[in-house]
Amino acid sequence: MLISCGNDMVSDMSNVQQPQDRALLDQEQFLTILSREEALRRFEAALFPRAIPGEARKLADALGCVLAEDVVAPIDVPPFDRSNVDGFAVRSADLVAASEAMPARLALNGEVVACGTLPMHQVAAGTATAIATGGPLPRGADAVIMVEYTQPAGMQAIEVRRAASPGQFVSYAGSDIARGEALLRAGSLIGSREVGILAACGIAHVTVARKPRVAVVSTGDELVQPGQLLPPAAIYDTNGAIVAAAINENGGEPLFFGAVPDDETRLEAAMRWALAEADMLVLSGGTSKGAGDLSHRLIARLGKPGIIAHGVALKPGKPLCLAVCDGKPVVILPGFPTSAMFTFHDMIVPVLRRMAGLPPRSDAKVNAKVPVRIASELGRTEFVMVSLVEGSDGLIAYPSGKGSGAITSFAQADGFLRIDALADQMPAGTETEVTLLTPHVRVPDLVIIGSHCTGLDLVTAPLARAGLVVRSIAVGSLGGLAAARRGECDLAPIHLFDDKSGTYNTPYLAEGLELVPGWRRMQGIVFRKGDERFEGSSTQEAIAAVLADRACIMVNRNQGAGTRILIDRLLGGARPEGYWNQPRSHNAVAAAVAQHRADWGMTIAPVADASDLGFIPLAEEHYDFAIVTARRQRPAVQAFLAALASDESRTALRRAGFRPASPDNDAAVRAVR
Ligand code: AMP
Ligand code: MG
Repeated sequence: MLISCGNDMVSDMSNVQQPQDRALLDQEQFLTILSREEALRRFEAALFPRAIPGEARKLADALGCVLAEDVVAPIDVPPFDRSNVDGFAVRSADLVAASEAMPARLALNGEVVACGTLPMHQVAAGTATAIATGGPLPRGADAVIMVEYTQPAGMQAIEVRRAASPGQFVSYAGSDIARGEALLRAGSLIGSREVGILAACGIAHVTVARKPRVAVVSTGDELVQPGQLLPPAAIYDTNGAIVAAAINENGGEPLFFGAVPDDETRLEAAMRWALAEADMLVLSGGTSKGAGDLSHRLIARLGKPGIIAHGVALKPGKPLCLAVCDGKPVVILPGFPTSAMFTFHDMIVPVLRRMAGLPPRSDAKVNAKVPVRIASELGRTEFVMVSLVEGSDGLIAYPSGKGSGAITSFAQADGFLRIDALADQMPAGTETEVTLLTPHVRVPDLVIIGSHCTGLDLVTAPLARAGLVVRSIAVGSLGGLAAARRGECDLAPIHLFDDKSGTYNTPYLAEGLELVPGWRRMQGIVFRKGDERFEGSSTQEAIAAVLADRACIMVNRNQGAGTRILIDRLLGGARPEGYWNQPRSHNAVAAAVAQHRADWGMTIAPVADASDLGFIPLAEEHYDFAIVTARRQRPAVQAFLAALASDESRTALRRAGFRPASPDNDAAVRAVR
């Protein structure tokens, strides 16, 4: 087996046709490929131990920093014995026998001890001094009696109807914090609680670990910064934003240098500048092949010892490159955002936190069970993106079905799990550790697993406004039904056409599931406006025109999609150009036509409208909900059903081009389009 250091998606292709030097290069990289554990061990050995530089900060600026040294309490808190209530400072011995029947009478001393006032008079036997909450206890007093249990007895005395125990309502000096006590330890993260503790002791400055400055550089000719116009074939720089934010979340100070084109001179200049400014450099992209494969070659010129690992047995993430240049860590993350994210959280965050003086992250891991078997490649540590949902006995980690190139799996994901290199699978039911991508997880109130539709967001909007967390995991109709049968979701949105009965969805219901009608989506032929082969035609006319014109290219749908059945029926066995281009979603069809990669395809009306494409309606698709009967009474499911039936949702759905189903008599409702 030849393992190239190319990015995961194209490495297979690279092995088909290889010039000799290419093969040699791959051979060399094969020899140096390291396991995750060995790569981490060597990287850490090259970096640690190291001194963590400290800096003095004003307390007000220390929030989020890490204490560099222990702080010892310089004073007692409270600094004196203090009253906890409004009342009277007394000698408890005077009140031993006091009761409702035999009130004790105490003469008042001629002062009121307010907060911040030093008492002048001693509390002698048979006397009391009025004292406010927070006032220092006068000499002679050993307890405080609440004002509620006393009554004035003339101008200069009170009657007390309760006994008082010694120390009652008194906070003794040092009872909160004792002078000399270790207040906070080095390594503590300074939050509002820590700021409060330090302020209580009068500490205005602390020595904190200087946040490591981490330069972030994205590489690639195709990258554009968010906020700028997206030219054709360009993509937004995702890694720059992700990595900078994740550095912030883990105790570093990101210095974002933007995206640098794949140009040796410019990249070297950027890397040199970044390394001069920062304690650490994180690049992304450009670890793959050929002309783009620059950054790792440049590293050798930047400092010693240079590359520690280039090529780690990770999936995805094999192109990861770890280096140390004159004591500073230099990392090249793989280009694909999900791969960059996995490798950053799994391998770089621990190093960054150590440099920042922070302990390993404890809030970013949870245990969860996997509901399905996850196949894995033997020999590589595999990362799998997961969404967390609550099962009957703990969290369930639902693997996302998307490939390593898809940013969309981020949107649904709470974190990722890791499958050991020596395992070829993770069996269903395995309890495993999940690394959270954001250090808090809120388990959703409503879990929707199945086919996604933009209309769904319109229905769940009121739930989100009401504070319910809705998690929608797109795995397709069949995946949704399987999840519903296993009881992992509340409902599964489906649009499955049954060829035999000629109906939607109902034939697919298993026991324990019931169908709630959702809405109808008009499917039809989509084309660029102004194309005369389609404009003003019926579907039959359009298909005739398409079949007569060999230059006309179609975009199909995947086998198993209801839309595919419609297309095949329309084509009646014909295989026009483009037939084998079979994307899996309505949106991909519209994109292919809008971008001139195809001239026609079949999609749903709202998607065609959103891309400003022409549309010839053909047939309605039924998008309904398979509800798990056992979970129907849950408040979030009830809220969903109420939202689905509400005028607000139905109006919003209609406005977006969908036709809400009538729950009673769907067939009687005429198409509104
Ligand atoms: P590379 O390793 O540079 O060949 O990149 C592999 C893939 O990741 C390509 O599809 C790149 O377009 C993509 N990619 C690289 N860098 C970024 C980035 N900063 N943001 C989003 N995608 C990226
Ligand atoms: Mg690149």
